[in-house]
Amino acid sequence: MLLSHYRMEFVRPPNPSAQHLRCFAYLDEDISAALPFLNTVVKGFRFSRQPPSLTLKLPGKLVTLTAREIAINMVQDQVEAENLLRWLKDKINEAWAKREAIEPTFEAAAAPRVLDILKLLPQTNCRACGQPTCMVFAVSLSQGEQSLDACGALDQEKQEKLRGYLKDFQIQA
Ligand code: SF4
Repeated sequence: MLLSHYRMEFVRPPNPSAQHLRCFAYLDEDISAALPFLNTVVKGFRFSRQPPSLTLKLPGKLVTLTAREIAINMVQDQVEAENLLRWLKDKINEAWAKREAIEPTFEAAAAPRVLDILKLLPQTNCRACGQPTCMVFAVSLSQGEQSLDACGALDQEKQEKLRGYLKDFQIQA
């Protein structure tokens, strides 16, 4: 087993109305050598070489793994963070244990194009989604930080097209 223990810390964002927490897990072991193998077995990660890091965009969350730290930008509570960290720990250890049979990947996964997303949005900048413009909403979608349901002005056909497009990049919206 590569990763055995970590210490969790929660930080409330400076915005007093924020309902979520940021979570940091400080790792007892250095996992940098496992990151290219994890990049192969879990789809949707983006890998950076210097320093070695992986980022994973989940709906409403950004998870970043570096040598000695895992950071999650938004969690509702401790239980959600514990579940996510347990899953990541299992994946890291599994990828490391099977590394002889896994081709490491040092490339970043392709990312969706913001303009391709924007073209399918209503482009009225009505703000009903909570974002100041459709462009900002498109950026949030491209980063897996927002659900398509937040745009009530989007018709069914375009919603399905966008879901399909984002799914090609392992983004569930
Ligand atoms: S709700 Fe839809 S149309 Fe309105 S600003 Fe947001 S993305 Fe644009």
